[in-house]
Amino acid sequence: MTSTTTTTDIPQNIVVIGGVAGGMSAATRLRRLNESATITVFERGGEVSFANCGLPYHVGGVIEHRSALVLQTPGALKNRFNIDVFVRTEVTAIDRDNKSVTVREVETGNERTVSYDALVLSPGSTPVKPPLPGVEKSYVLWNLDDMDTMIEKANTSKSAIVVGGGFIGLEVAENLAHKGLKVTIVEALPQLMATMDQEMSWLLVERARVNDVDVMLSQKVEEITDQGVTLASGETIEADIVVMAVGARPNTELAQQAGLEIGPGRGIAVDDEQRTSDPYIWAVGDAAEKKRPNGTSLVPLAGLANRHGRYAADSIMGLPVRNQPAYGTSIVGFFGLAGAATGFTERVLREQGQKMRIIHSHPIDHAGYYPDGAQMAMKLIVDPDTDLILGAQVVGDQGVDKRIDVLATAMQNGMTATELIDLELAYAPQFGSAKDPVNMLGYINDNRVHGEETVQWHEVDQYLAEGWILADVRTKFENSRGAIPGSALFELDTLREQLDELRGKKVIVTCRVGQRGHTAASILAQEGIEVKNLDGGYLTWQLGRQAAEHQKQEATR
Ligand code: FAD
Repeated sequence: MTSTTTTTDIPQNIVVIGGVAGGMSAATRLRRLNESATITVFERGGEVSFANCGLPYHVGGVIEHRSALVLQTPGALKNRFNIDVFVRTEVTAIDRDNKSVTVREVETGNERTVSYDALVLSPGSTPVKPPLPGVEKSYVLWNLDDMDTMIEKANTSKSAIVVGGGFIGLEVAENLAHKGLKVTIVEALPQLMATMDQEMSWLLVERARVNDVDVMLSQKVEEITDQGVTLASGETIEADIVVMAVGARPNTELAQQAGLEIGPGRGIAVDDEQRTSDPYIWAVGDAAEKKRPNGTSLVPLAGLANRHGRYAADSIMGLPVRNQPAYGTSIVGFFGLAGAATGFTERVLREQGQKMRIIHSHPIDHAGYYPDGAQMAMKLIVDPDTDLILGAQVVGDQGVDKRIDVLATAMQNGMTATELIDLELAYAPQFGSAKDPVNMLGYINDNRVHGEETVQWHEVDQYLAEGWILADVRTKFENSRGAIPGSALFELDTLREQLDELRGKKVIVTCRVGQRGHTAASILAQEGIEVKNLDGGYLTWQLGRQAAEHQKQEATR
């Protein structure tokens, strides 16, 4: 696909399909760039520019007033931007030869034809309702109508099942729990949040449990009944309301009917300027395929819809566009815990056969001596050949959003993991540390680059079976409160006196988070002892082990 618009043929009649994130971003940018163009937006729903991302929080009452979610009205858009917005008006067909669309008023069924010089598609996506018996009894949360229906039902319900443990599933679960419902999340994968790896997302399962939300992993719903759901295992769970949050599919019907190219992720294929295979049609948002660092796929996130809406407008108006790949940076809030990710997970990279250096750490979000610090779990995935960052995940109660955003920015701008050391980040004790957790990832990476070898949590059993010694270098007290089976205590402060016990042996050192393990590994290595440090220490091992044990138990249900 190549760019064909030049400054001499700037379109004057622009039609936008879909009046929310991507569509409205394109429409308003178009107006700022061009006062004379005719800009028309068709939206089949009753409202434009509503805050999809806020819907769960009105269900739970956190956002008190429904009106807060409606950011613009057709009247206000006409006044400020001179954009003609038609709600409850669906585009039903695109005639590429005549450069026109057929629009139908949803309430009257009246149809008319509207011509365009340039067309922007931002029709979004549709929540998936899998073809299960009784699926029509379930609820979804995608727009304001869905939200109103869900609130009405939830007001008379005592219990809920949320099918799907992705970000919308978690947000709905939390908010229904806030409303006082007893909530169960049922997820087919062996973990919540597929944007993270299993050991990291286990913290979300723990947080659900302490908030009296049940989580069932590796469980498939087979039927929705009047009483609740039946699982593939035959088990039944009762609930007054069943919510489906199992993903969304891109709204590509119009594009397909019009013969536009569809990409490998089943979204509308676009070039770097968001232009489709038709030089007069652009596509953005959930329906459009995203350029990724390793190809293209769907990435249904609001920030990308807005950015690409702006770029489509720039391209239509003949401005140069510098479109970067999408890294899928995302964050979910869940009962005070934040779970954030950017780039690729270890799971996905492993499937692709990518070589990886994995780093886990568990720093406090700000200086440990200052009150109210909270421990985070961090994971950095690095290409060992280039030292480039491939992905990062952060989970915790405080400071998660800023760490993931710094890591996403570093990754996106091609910084190496070692260069994280050099990031000069704001510090006072209540905000961070003189060595910020992000800097620390850089230091740990540097240690690894300079030869420190590590073992991952899931490799410990294998090493023990091969005869390695697992030396726990924490204190006696810490060890007494829980230790990795098969480990022996070698407290760091007296390790130098016990070296003879370890000479000639292969040793894995482990501490709480990997930091004292690093010191112990340095001591042993300098004594000529073959040593590896358990990455992320006991805390990472514990998270991973609990997640894996749970997976085994659920598999035998
Ligand atoms: P939308 O914003 O969905 O707009 C598409 C519009 O097109 C719809 O209103 C639809 O009615 C209309 N339309 C479709 N077909 C036609 C047609 N033929 N004619 C006329 N109109 C049509 N993303 C985040 O990054 N962070 C979050 O926290 C977050 N939370 C979310 C929570 C919920 C409950 C939901 C549903 C989504 C959330 N998202 C979040 C995702 C984000 O909202 C979407 O990625 C973004 O809205 C996509 O923008 P879009 O323009 O492609 O689609």
